[in-house]
Amino acid sequence: MSSKTSNKAGLSFSLKLSILYALFFVIGSIGLFVFAYYLIGGLVEQREREIIRDRIQEYQAWYEEGGLHALKARFYEQSDNTRDIFFVRIVGPFNQVLFVSIPEGFDANKLDSIPPTQTDFWLSIKGQAENSTWTVGVAPLSGGLALQVGKSSTQSQELLSYFRTVSLIFIVPILFLGIIGGGLLTFRAIRPIRNLIQTVRDILKTGKMSTRVPVAAGRGEMYELVDLFNEMLDKNDSLIRAMHESLDNVAHDLRTPMTRLRGVAEFALQDSQNQSACQEALADCMEESERVLTMLNTLMDVAEAETGAMRLDITEVSVPEVIRSVVELYEVVAEEKQITVTTSLPEDLLINADLTRFQQVIGNLVDNALKYSGDGRQVHVSAHEEADYAIISVSDKGVGIPPDEINKIWDRLYRGDHSRSKRGLGLGLSFVRAIVQAHGGTVKVESQLDKGTTFIIRLARAK
Ligand code: ADP
Repeated sequence: MSSKTSNKAGLSFSLKLSILYALFFVIGSIGLFVFAYYLIGGLVEQREREIIRDRIQEYQAWYEEGGLHALKARFYEQSDNTRDIFFVRIVGPFNQVLFVSIPEGFDANKLDSIPPTQTDFWLSIKGQAENSTWTVGVAPLSGGLALQVGKSSTQSQELLSYFRTVSLIFIVPILFLGIIGGGLLTFRAIRPIRNLIQTVRDILKTGKMSTRVPVAAGRGEMYELVDLFNEMLDKNDSLIRAMHESLDNVAHDLRTPMTRLRGVAEFALQDSQNQSACQEALADCMEESERVLTMLNTLMDVAEAETGAMRLDITEVSVPEVIRSVVELYEVVAEEKQITVTTSLPEDLLINADLTRFQQVIGNLVDNALKYSGDGRQVHVSAHEEADYAIISVSDKGVGIPPDEINKIWDRLYRGDHSRSKRGLGLGLSFVRAIVQAHGGTVKVESQLDKGTTFIIRLARAK
């Protein structure tokens, strides 16, 4: 049901996007046409008025020169087609017509609609033919007379109507282009999302966590989303694999102590009258169960630190102080093995860390250094600052780590070949790395077989 819903959502999203795109495209084009139409209309009207205004000025000049008589005479003398083109009327102060020339096409019945005013103004009146219009300009003449000059704007109207028809013819293919173009662009743009949906479906269907979203060359949020999604899948994959491995390891590593526990208990039960044997068996059982408990607790700690679920009580911690206290703690063990533990520490070096966890990290490394050093050898712990970092190193002159093991030592429950005879759970270094990384630091190892090993931790200094 959920996959059906997501399918629907994907479809409607791309459809919505193409419709929106087409809509914007069409509205934009129509807007552009309307704008162009009004611009051209305005220009045409302005041109018409300019022509009429020129005429008015000419007639006003004639009138000023020789009065109404001169105006009339010169009007009829004109050799151009003025009489056929322009409507001219002069009205007196009492609206009496003093002169009128009506060209073909002008509707004489509309003369009354021109108001008897002497001030400048413009008006538009219908012509004889249907759809024909005339633009009339009114201007004053001295002596309270009014001059009315008109010209047919039919040609301009025809031009605008031609523009309208052409626009309408064009708008249809533009609409199609908008819809098809929008659809194609949207289809292309959301391809990474479709791939992503398909990948999620495949994973849900097959359970194959190794499936990844195909990565196409490109930039932008969609491609970033795909990259991040793949990265997240990688992380989930490695977490699940690590969980499987841990479970396998735990199951494997619990089998031995549990079998031993059972063996000891069985053996003690066979001779239950022997009290001292029973007590010894109980002590063995306790020791074994303690070991199992430590193993489980450490495993939990490592898992918590690795997944970021561990609660760290961060405070300012003095590195030299912690190292000194840990070395002191291991004094007895070192003495037993006649190992000299030396330190070279600065006056003070502060880091932001969880004190207990940091102590455990140093403790694990010092413990290992002592464990894997032969009697009478030397262990050296040092700390110094390097730019914004505190560098802590724990080195020994012990057995060293074989090159083929060096990458495995960080794995949970891994124990090197030479360490089988020594006590340990194979969890110390996984714990060290998980805690250091949870503090935002790094840890690395340098080792030479039979010469010694150095572990180097790098953590940000407190500011
Ligand atoms: P454990 O010490 O309990 O076996 P660790 O996780 O602490 O587990 O170490 C993993 C493995 O790394 C060890 O079994 C050992 O083989 C190797 N190792 C760790 N520290 C040292 C060291 N200082 N010198 C040599 N080998 C080491």
